[in-house]
Amino acid sequence: MAKIKRVLVAGGAGFLGSHLCERLVTAGHDVICLDNFFTSQKSNVSHLLGLPNFELIRHDVIEPIILEADEVYNLACPAAPGHYQYNPIKTMKTSLVGSINMLGLAKRCRAKILQASTSEVYGDPDVHPQPETYRGNVNTLGLRACYDEGKRAAESLFMDYRRVHKMPVRIVRIFNTYGPRMHPFDGRVVSNFIRQALTGEPITIFGSGNQTRSFCYRDDLVEAMIRMMDNENDFVGPVNIGNPGEFTIRELAELVIRLTGASSEIISKPLPADDPRQRQPDISLAKAQLDWEPKVPLAEGLKKTIDWFRSIDFEQYRPPTPMY
Ligand code: NAD
Ligand code: UDP
Repeated sequence: MAKIKRVLVAGGAGFLGSHLCERLVTAGHDVICLDNFFTSQKSNVSHLLGLPNFELIRHDVIEPIILEADEVYNLACPAAPGHYQYNPIKTMKTSLVGSINMLGLAKRCRAKILQASTSEVYGDPDVHPQPETYRGNVNTLGLRACYDEGKRAAESLFMDYRRVHKMPVRIVRIFNTYGPRMHPFDGRVVSNFIRQALTGEPITIFGSGNQTRSFCYRDDLVEAMIRMMDNENDFVGPVNIGNPGEFTIRELAELVIRLTGASSEIISKPLPADDPRQRQPDISLAKAQLDWEPKVPLAEGLKKTIDWFRSIDFEQYRPPTPMY
C-alpha cells in the first residue's frame, strides 16, 4: 500500500485546490486545506468536510502558521485578472510573504513543497510556444505586475530556499486551466463566456478576439501537479503544465455558443492593458520528466464545465471580499 502522507494544500478551497484536495483525500492521504476564502467559498470543499482524513482551516498565508506536513502545495493566490487586480498590494504580499511562510513551514517540517507558478511569468511572450528557458517579457509597472512579478519573485524564493537550505522544492508553471468549480464571476474568459451564454447575456470579446490562449482541463492539470510532487528524480522544474491546443478567443466564443446552444450575440469590449497576444506551452519537459501530457480535448472539457455551470445557482457566488 502507498505511504499515507500528511499534505497541506494552501489555497485548497479554490478551483484547482479543491480538486487537488479531493484527489489526495481519495488516495487516502491526510489532507489539511488552508484558505482565507478570498476568491472561493466553502461549498467547493463542503463534500469533504465530514471525512476523517480532511481538515479545513481558515487562514491567510501572509500570517505565519505552525502545522505538521510531509508535503505542501502552495496554491494560495488569487488567479483571475479581476481578482488579483482587486487589491494588487495584497496580491504581491500573498505571493511573497505567503511563499516565505509556506517555505518556512516546509523547512521546519522537512517537507517537500510545490509552488503553483504561472505562464504569466512569460508576460506578453515574444517567443512562441514558450519553453521553460524563455525568460519572459513582463511589464514591471503594469496592472498585471502584482501577479506576474509576485509569482516570478516566488520562483526565486523557492530556488533560494533550495540552494541555501537544500530543500526539496518543485515549481510548476500553469497555463490557462478551466473546469467545474471555476468562480462564475471571476472574469476569466471561460467562466465569463459560459455564464454569459447560459444567461443569454452578450458574449464579451476583449479587443479583436485574435489573441490566443491554450486551455487545459483541470483533471489533466491536477494529475501533472501530483506527478511533479511525487517525482523521485528530484526534478525541481520549473515545468510548463498546460494543453498545447491553441485557440483564438473568438474561436472559444464560437465553440461555447455551439456547445450551449445559446443565442447570445458577440460584442466587443476594449482590450485590457498588457493583455498577452499569444500563449501556448511547450510541454516537452513535462513529457520527458513526468511522462505526462493532457488527455482532455477542449470541446470535451467545455461540455463538462457547461454541465456544472448549469447545475449551480449563480446567486450563491459573491465577488471577492472587499479589502478597503
Ligand atoms: P482560485 O482563485 O480559485 O484559487 C486560489 C485560492 O487561494 C482561493 O481559494 C483563495 O481564496 C485562496 N487565497 C488567495 N489568497 C489567499 C491568502 N492570502 N491566504 C490564503 N488563501 C488565499 O484560483 P485557481 O485557478 O484555483 O488557482 C490556484 C493557483 O494556481 C493560484 O496560485 C494560481 O496563481 C495558479 N494558477 C492557476 C491558473 C489557472 O488557469 N487556473 C493558471 C496559472 C496559475
Ligand atoms: N477575455 C475576453 N472576454 C472576457 C474575458 C477575457 O475576451 O469576457 C480575453 C482576455 O482579454 C484575454 C483572454 O480572454 O485575452 C484570457 O483572459 P483570462 O482573464 O481568462 O486569462 P489571462 O490568460 O489573460 O490571464
